[in-house]
Amino acid sequence: MKSENRTEHKLTDNNYNSASTNSNISYVQQEKYKFLEYQYSDWHWQLRNKIKNLEHLSKHLNLTTEEQRGIVHTKFKFSITPYLLSIMDKENENCPIRKQFIPTIDEIKVTPEEMLDPCAEDENMPTTGLIHRYPDRVLLILTDHCASYCRFCTRKRLVGQQEHTMSTGEFFLALDYIKKHPQIRDVLLSGGDPLTLSDEKLEFYLKNIRKINHIEIIRIGTRIPVSLPQRITPKLCNMLKKYNPLFINLHINHPKELATQTKSACNLLADAGFPLGSQTVLLKGINDKQNILTSLFHEMLKLRIRPYYLYQCDIAKGTSHFRTHVSFGLKVIENLRGFTSGIAIPTFVIDTPGGGGKIPLSPDYVISKSRNSIIVKNYEQKVFVYPEIK
Ligand SMILES: *Cc1c(COP(=O)(O)O)cnc(C)c1O
Ligand code: SF4
Repeated sequence: MKSENRTEHKLTDNNYNSASTNSNISYVQQEKYKFLEYQYSDWHWQLRNKIKNLEHLSKHLNLTTEEQRGIVHTKFKFSITPYLLSIMDKENENCPIRKQFIPTIDEIKVTPEEMLDPCAEDENMPTTGLIHRYPDRVLLILTDHCASYCRFCTRKRLVGQQEHTMSTGEFFLALDYIKKHPQIRDVLLSGGDPLTLSDEKLEFYLKNIRKINHIEIIRIGTRIPVSLPQRITPKLCNMLKKYNPLFINLHINHPKELATQTKSACNLLADAGFPLGSQTVLLKGINDKQNILTSLFHEMLKLRIRPYYLYQCDIAKGTSHFRTHVSFGLKVIENLRGFTSGIAIPTFVIDTPGGGGKIPLSPDYVISKSRNSIIVKNYEQKVFVYPEIK
């Protein structure tokens, strides 16, 4: 098993892409490549062959000492799909994908303000895995499994711990709670990543949620199109369509994540008719530049993804090396508003420590307000007066 993995993983290096087009290789080799390519495009194969340890990863990347120490000492699960490895920059430790998924020793440092459960989700959990924070909607953690683990994950306390999926008993308890609360009209499936589940399992959950009359919309939050785009198949889309209105929200932080296969996955989802939104986390040294974010939002729109939330990084344990200053996020929004399409601009939010929920932050366009008028400035800093109704 071990040696088998080793040969297969060679394909995740750059030679994978060129393999099938190389005309100098023998027929037998070509057939072998075809078979391996077929395997590579199989999402189950991707999950079975995740890279989980230092020994395995160092065969593919020239790891820095900080990375090596990070992988050995981290307490938060490390694993990445062969696909994700294939789009990382092997030579550059500052590759934005590498920095998001490969731990460094900085992760071991916990600062005094950091928390295990930064958004106090556990306090708003009436049943296992069900978070009821807002009056009319709930978030359901179906699984703690992700295709690859982001080092800044706000749910590190749960995510990747056991790669465990909610039991049927737990699910029915959550369902019962939803049934008893008719004010709940929106169920957000999250995790972990709900799309790591099989079509059958996911359909079981969706079917049961859809049976509840007061549920108007279902949302799926996922990073799968980035970390395991092979998972998005026409079969999955056809199954999901049965449970419309269904909204899909993608977690995407950097334009480099929008590689060819990710674009194809997004196109499949958009062609199937699902409204696509996104969430982006501000991350130091990864996307904390205006031009990166502006181009990210433009690239998303080209894929029919509407930027939804831009997050200030939560104060989860071991994330201080990722956090930017709040004023940076505000500046990003200020540099977008007016200068580009309104639909390219997400809402900048802080998911407040202690469980206050998401609070939007906006640059201030109001200079002064009185009974008679409001004085405002536009994106070019020009001042305007709007007279109030007398
Ligand atoms: C983010 C979130 C939601 C959904 O919030 P929206 O602003 O409606 O997108 C619901 N429940 C929890 C616990 C959340 O964190
Ligand atoms: S995909 Fe989401 S839940 Fe999974 S590790 Fe990344 S941030 Fe956490």
